[in-house]
Amino acid sequence: MIEFKDVTKTFETKQGTVHAVQDVNLKIEDGHIYGIVGYSGAGKSTLIRMLNGLETPTEGSVSIDDVEISALGGSKLREQRQHIGMIFQHFNLLWSRTVLQNIMFPLEIAGKSKAEAKKQAEHLADLVGLAGREQAYPSELSGGQKQRVGIARALANDPQILLSDEATSALDPQTTDEVLDLLLDINKKLNLTIVLITHEMHVIRKIADHVAVMESGKIVEQGPVLDVFKRP
Ligand code: ADP
Ligand code: ADP
Repeated sequence: MIEFKDVTKTFETKQGTVHAVQDVNLKIEDGHIYGIVGYSGAGKSTLIRMLNGLETPTEGSVSIDDVEISALGGSKLREQRQHIGMIFQHFNLLWSRTVLQNIMFPLEIAGKSKAEAKKQAEHLADLVGLAGREQAYPSELSGGQKQRVGIARALANDPQILLSDEATSALDPQTTDEVLDLLLDINKKLNLTIVLITHEMHVIRKIADHVAVMESGKIVEQGPVLDVFKRP
């Protein structure tokens, strides 16, 4: 289970103190698809960046299965990060490498042999529907296919949690639906917890079971999607 306890994150800037996240309390159960929705600047990215230690809370704690991420550093944090996959709006692929090489990359970083990494990457390419495209370069792929590579790469180290930062925002509606169907499928097959940030209600309605609505750094509403969206 993921738990945010009284989490506040402020940034000191030339313009003054920015309260990116304020007094957030949030529990996310294993295997759930939890949506975090809000306008640009609401604090969504800062919130999930604290989950993989890319940001540290100014106050409060962030933990996964009672391990306090916000208190880890160095090799312990790097190890923990391997159990968290992340996908992005602009895919963040390596453009000079093939589909297979992109998926192999985190496996090689984790110390797998080339042969092992290749075998695992081929399996993942198949899982995300890219069988037959392993030797293509990202520039030869459609947006949806690029995100499939991003998803396969995120799954490479067998994570417990997948973080999605506006992963479908650069895709057209039909491709968005296809990628969301893939995420649903993976959530079920791998019992993977998915935390997804989006500014699109449609995305939440389609795949999330729970949702938190953020405004100016605060969670203004949270609960099962059906309850939150039923209210007037
Ligand atoms: P969202 O993901 O909802 O668009 P962010 O978490 O990116 O929101 O940003 C929340 C607020 O924190 C914004 O006002 C943003 O400008 C500010 N912010 C985020 N990261 C930094 C940073 N590294 N330094 C200063 N301000 C930041
Ligand atoms: P989108 O269409 O979603 O904006 P792209 O796939 O075109 O995304 O590109 C995502 C990011 O990767 C952009 O920042 C772009 O500048 C960069 N990029 C795209 N193609 C290449 C390439 N062949 N080599 C290096 N960077 C690239």
